[in-house]
Amino acid sequence: MTAPDATQDGELYEARQKIYPREIEGRFQRLRTLAAWVLLGIFYVIPWIPWSGRQAVLFDLPARKFHIFGLTLWPQDFYFLTWLLVIAALSLFFFTALAGRLFCGYACPQTVWTETFLWMERFVEGSRSQQVKLARAPWTAEKILRKGAKQFLWIAFALWTGFTFVGYFTPVTELAGKIANFATGPWETFWVLFYGGATYVNAGFMREQVCKYMCPYARFQSAMFDRDTLIITYDQSRGEPRGARKKGVDHRAKGLGDCVDCTLCVQVCPTGIDIRKGLQYECIACAACIDACDEVMDKVGYPRGLIRYDTQHGLEGKAKKVLRPRTIVYASLLALLVTGFAVTLSNRSVVAVDVIRDRNALFRERADGRIENVYNVKILNKDREAHEFRIAASGVPGLEVDYAGPTVWVAPGAVQGVPVRIRVPRGSLQGGADLVVGIEAVNRPDLKASGKARFIAPTD
Ligand code: SF4
Ligand code: SF4
Repeated sequence: MTAPDATQDGELYEARQKIYPREIEGRFQRLRTLAAWVLLGIFYVIPWIPWSGRQAVLFDLPARKFHIFGLTLWPQDFYFLTWLLVIAALSLFFFTALAGRLFCGYACPQTVWTETFLWMERFVEGSRSQQVKLARAPWTAEKILRKGAKQFLWIAFALWTGFTFVGYFTPVTELAGKIANFATGPWETFWVLFYGGATYVNAGFMREQVCKYMCPYARFQSAMFDRDTLIITYDQSRGEPRGARKKGVDHRAKGLGDCVDCTLCVQVCPTGIDIRKGLQYECIACAACIDACDEVMDKVGYPRGLIRYDTQHGLEGKAKKVLRPRTIVYASLLALLVTGFAVTLSNRSVVAVDVIRDRNALFRERADGRIENVYNVKILNKDREAHEFRIAASGVPGLEVDYAGPTVWVAPGAVQGVPVRIRVPRGSLQGGADLVVGIEAVNRPDLKASGKARFIAPTD
């Protein structure tokens, strides 16, 4: 498929021709299949893994808690998610500068799901030529049966995908029970159908069009490329002039390059491009053309690598540099961010406190002459066990702390509000001062936190 040429035919849009990528075997295809199995396995299996009495990974939006194995993130911890997103973005920059569109070819959900849908299509309709033949054939019983079977597989798989996606937000066993009894709520139904529908349309029909016309990464990734970035490229100096030849003929003597012009590299390309025309933004670096061409080179007895992973400097015969300012900066930033993330996460406190002033009165003058301020002290216990806390305060001279009980029990994963009265003798303070309220677990002195609030007193 070539790019539309508006100047020649006056059309600004070229109607899509369905691409039937030829199946290919080879070392990179095996790597891609392995990556697909691992990634899809992770996606479909994780919601079913139990962990300490609940689902291992559950994004519990109503409770505003994200459970990730032994870790529970509260709204106060959401900066960790932002941090993770920054790490993910920087990793993408780093690996793109280093090895081009590795993510697109091996790990992008669009690629992985499209491969899976292609596999189902081949399973039902056969090889590339059989699929083309079936598409051109009239609607016979066999065609209806094959097309129907393919649609059935696609829809079932897409719905399973939608169900799994929602299973990350609603406990998956509960969701399965609701679906079995037709008792899902409106939002659950919507998201199962929406995500399932998006999978069906994107992987079944849109396919390479998502990469070509919708993916923003395809547009800006070239900004991260330099002449030392690993790309999939056709070695023009070796391959041209291309042309058919008889086996055993000295093609060099006939003025031919190594490319036998079999077009296999084009037939296997999921985006329908011809890599021999040079680096194109449509190329998702799936390496199918490398495997195809290597197979051809093996057959004709030429060295492998006419299409290969190489850098532009490598193609020009210059030295390849992995360490260069761009990769060093990305790697250093990445190392800093990952280390900071790991240290902060491991030192993250599982208790927190919020001190909120009673807004009804600035202060109260008691019968005994002392000045009293009232606070609502909210204790957050993010741990998986209940804890008994003591409350103390400082920062105001002569203060006395009064709350119900010498200690407060807070259940695991709960927030407990405690009304706390702070009193000071009249005259010990003029105007106000910063009050610090601290909590500490009775049997775990390492579990402590503090919060600040203003203590208000009259000016005499
Ligand atoms: S697969 Fe290799 S030999 Fe065949 S057309 Fe492509 S580049 Fe040429
Ligand atoms: S040109 Fe080669 S690497 Fe690029 S998308 Fe096509 S088959 Fe994959």
